[in-house]
Amino acid sequence: MTRTAGTPSGLLIDGRWTNTANTAGTGGTREVRCPHDDRVVAVVAEATAEDVRAAVAAARRAFDSGPWPALPAAERGEVVTRIGELVREHTDELAELESLDTGKPLADSRQDMADVAAVFRYYGGLGPALSGRTVEPPGPDVASEVVREPVGVCAQITPWNYPLLQASWKLAPALAAGCTVVLKPSELTPLTTLRLAELAAPLLPPGVLNVVLGAGDPVGRAMVTDADVDMVSFTGGLATGRRIMADAAATVKKVALELGGKNPNVVFADADFDAAVDNALSAAFFHAGQVCSAGARLLVQRELHQRFVAALVDRVGEIRLGDGFSEKVHSGQNGSVVHCGPLISRAHREKVAGLVEATLAEGAVLRAGGRPPEDAALADGWYYLPTVLDGCRAEMTAVREEVFGPVMTVEVFDTEDEAVAMANDTVYGLAGAVWTGDAGRARRVARRLRHGTVWINDYHPYVPQAEWGGFKQSGVGRELGPTGLEEYTEAKHVYHNLRPARSGWLAAGGGGAA
Ligand code: NAD
Repeated sequence: MTRTAGTPSGLLIDGRWTNTANTAGTGGTREVRCPHDDRVVAVVAEATAEDVRAAVAAARRAFDSGPWPALPAAERGEVVTRIGELVREHTDELAELESLDTGKPLADSRQDMADVAAVFRYYGGLGPALSGRTVEPPGPDVASEVVREPVGVCAQITPWNYPLLQASWKLAPALAAGCTVVLKPSELTPLTTLRLAELAAPLLPPGVLNVVLGAGDPVGRAMVTDADVDMVSFTGGLATGRRIMADAAATVKKVALELGGKNPNVVFADADFDAAVDNALSAAFFHAGQVCSAGARLLVQRELHQRFVAALVDRVGEIRLGDGFSEKVHSGQNGSVVHCGPLISRAHREKVAGLVEATLAEGAVLRAGGRPPEDAALADGWYYLPTVLDGCRAEMTAVREEVFGPVMTVEVFDTEDEAVAMANDTVYGLAGAVWTGDAGRARRVARRLRHGTVWINDYHPYVPQAEWGGFKQSGVGRELGPTGLEEYTEAKHVYHNLRPARSGWLAAGGGGAA
């Protein structure tokens, strides 16, 4: 409880904190719990539909008549960069809040904060570089150019696995582009978003950044359906993404979706064995597998299969589970490739356990895990042992569905063509990896994978300069990189007749009006 002291607990609307948990309005309050031991670490306000309306109206006013969209991009960029500096200066505090909220090891939360700061720095610099282009005019008396303008009021909705990092991927480019924002963190993990808003709000004109709290339905839905919102940017599960797309259709909003993944980690027999084993473990079990790009689906070439799975089972026992604040867990001194915190909630652990049971009933072979740990020190939290399911086939439940827990399925392939076909046999298309000592094969396979990010002989790294997003049902649009900024703009064609005449363009035989 003491660790959260000072964190705002209300809603940020039009530059003012309102409806704090102590004086909660009609929306009531919500307890925020630490998944390590289920204790209440904060009580925050819950927004009503009226609060959402007020937040969107404030963002609308700030966009239509406030100074932010019209500021020189360089000045906006300075503010965005400064927000990144504030994150860096408050790393310890923000990392503690993130670990309290998500249960993840403190070292991982610190890394998240470094990544958040880097994203703000990147877009602070890139915003001023955003430019349109001059178009070859159809005649000597015409000037024709395409300019980029901010898209308007953005509703941004984030998940619980990387609360502040996912917020930064949306907020930094939106602000840099000149948009105004209503941001809703997951109801399970609002703390770092609230603290970031507290740090950033004094740098921004009122209404540019608004934060509302509460569940997807009704709070998130009220954001998505509000006619004054121009764009919805959502990161979360596939089912929610489908719902949001349908809800946004009524007002034909621009929609950007970062959804789940069922990510293949393809290991050929000529790969560096030890590196591939280590990385297969961190690919699947980092953050207890609660990573959209988790390498939860191991595809291994037949001649390597037995030896590879034996090594995995050997090493999986080295993974430390425990409190994110424990030195043992986050010190990195125990030689383990990865340290695991708990799953986010009891309900999520039940879902993970159910998917494992269903896959075992379909004939998978349990080689490790498959249950919560017996350690009494972890009994109050939502821990689940790193689990290896061997003998899997494409049609099995845990191979098809995103488990979002510490569960690795193992399938066997013989040829390169077969590996590619299996890796692409999913409705998802977020990320994947190929492990091989053959550079030609590495590039061939990388090109043929229908996934938005492909690692060769590595797993998990990303850089803010490179686009992130999904093929197929893993999403719509891209975050990060220059495209992540352009998503928050509209392209406008400005056609200037330098010598207007009454007969004009149509009389001159012009055509092609759409
Ligand atoms: P979720 O879909 O349950 O919730 C995400 C957010 O959407 C939350 O803030 C929630 O309150 C809100 N929400 C729920 N229903 C809504 C509705 N009808 N309208 C508007 N908002 C609504 O996802 P989660 O369980 O919080 O996160 C896990 C999922 O996120 C996984 O599927 C994971 O793969 C995905 N994810 C994807 C990426 C990526 O980059 N592609 C990154 C992180 C997480």
